[in-house]
Amino acid sequence: MEIFDVAVVGGGIAGASFAYRVAGRRSLVLLEAEAQVGYHSTGRSAAEFSRQFQNETTGLLADASFDFLAAPPAGFADVPLLTPRGNLVIATGDRLPQLDAAFQEVRQTSPDTRMLSLDEAMDMVPFLRRDYMAGAFYDPACWDMEVESILQGYLRIARRNGADLRTGHPVSAVVRENGIYRLDTPQGPVLARTIVNTAGAWADRLAAMAGLGPLGIVPHRRTAITVDVPAEYDLARMPGVNELDESFYFKPEAGKLMVSPADATPSDPCDAQPEDLDVAYAAHFLEQSTTLPIRTISHKWAGLRSFAPDKHQVVGFDSRDPGFFWLAGQGGSGILTSPALSEWAAGLFLDGAPPARLARLGLQPTLFSPARLLARPDT
Ligand SMILES: Cc1cc2nc3c(=O)[nH]c(=O)nc-3n(C[C@H](O)[C@H](O)[C@H](O)COP(=O)(O)OP(=O)(O)OC[C@H]3O[C@@H](n4cnc5c(N)ncnc54)[C@H](O)[C@@H]3O)c2cc1C
Repeated sequence: MEIFDVAVVGGGIAGASFAYRVAGRRSLVLLEAEAQVGYHSTGRSAAEFSRQFQNETTGLLADASFDFLAAPPAGFADVPLLTPRGNLVIATGDRLPQLDAAFQEVRQTSPDTRMLSLDEAMDMVPFLRRDYMAGAFYDPACWDMEVESILQGYLRIARRNGADLRTGHPVSAVVRENGIYRLDTPQGPVLARTIVNTAGAWADRLAAMAGLGPLGIVPHRRTAITVDVPAEYDLARMPGVNELDESFYFKPEAGKLMVSPADATPSDPCDAQPEDLDVAYAAHFLEQSTTLPIRTISHKWAGLRSFAPDKHQVVGFDSRDPGFFWLAGQGGSGILTSPALSEWAAGLFLDGAPPARLARLGLQPTLFSPARLLARPDT
């Protein structure tokens, strides 16, 4: 039976982007539990590229990912992966000082951000409720992402470079014998010299199968709905809207309006489903801040955003098992950071050091290392 250099477990954006970087340089098999790739978090995102309100590390990863998505390598995709959207941040009257502070912060990394009069904000999003909003700023540095094309682009090139991609292969047990891992699946065992953990919400569960204690990566459920908007409004040209404290946001999505109550409820890893209360909150926030009539909710869904306790990504070999590599904990930015994070991961995995281009930005391996979490009392 073939012994692969690498078994990547998890076929979301993390596994796909890692396979893209490493296939052709190592023999690689990618094992995805579901019948299709991207079924969990990757297929349920808001598809937004913005570095607004990201922590500093994620902001740097976003910056370092932008060029790849704006001008992907030849053959990666036949559609643009980024489409300008822009973003409006709105605040109620009691929050104006905080709005100004947020404006100053966003402007440091997005210098074209500008304060708007209420009239200007209403021009951009005519169905906003004027008596709800006391102030607003506009950040043009926000794009819609073509998530499915990004995912398929990574996988197509990985496959071309020899990656063996297997869907419908849930890994149920991991055994290490003579330096080789045996990963059990219903279709039979797969042998590999190293494991890359791109299992998303299941990252700690996969580690447990390999005999490693958890790092404390916790999935958090987030809900979204889409609603119809009267035809008089031109959604194509409208920015997304975020409430200042991110208690909710909405944005155009395929001819409808996507609304999220920005919930973050800790959850077990699972096929996340929307709870009625969160759906009701989404509708409530939209009714509170806009004049839109909500007649029907055309679609509702929930997905999991998985965070380490310190909210930084988890990338690197596990100090307890030198054959076990983590690429997890991407929280709410796993797609937009995937170009740079996978480049970083591949540098560590293949060369033992991050790529110089990324190290120069000031990113440090210790920031992402699994070992930093083992030292925490809450892990
Ligand atoms: C509502 C919502 C909005 C979001 N908005 C954005 C956004 O605007 N921009 C952005 O960049 N990010 C956003 N995100 C976050 C983004 O979706 C995630 O960070 C990203 O998808 C995580 O990718 P992943 O590959 O780690 O996880 P997943 O896509 O969940 O992939 C993990 C895969 O591992 C598989 N797996 C698990 N265990 C096993 C096993 N034992 N054997 C085999 N396979 C296994 C699972 O089946 C799954 O397919 C959002 C997320 C949500 C939920």
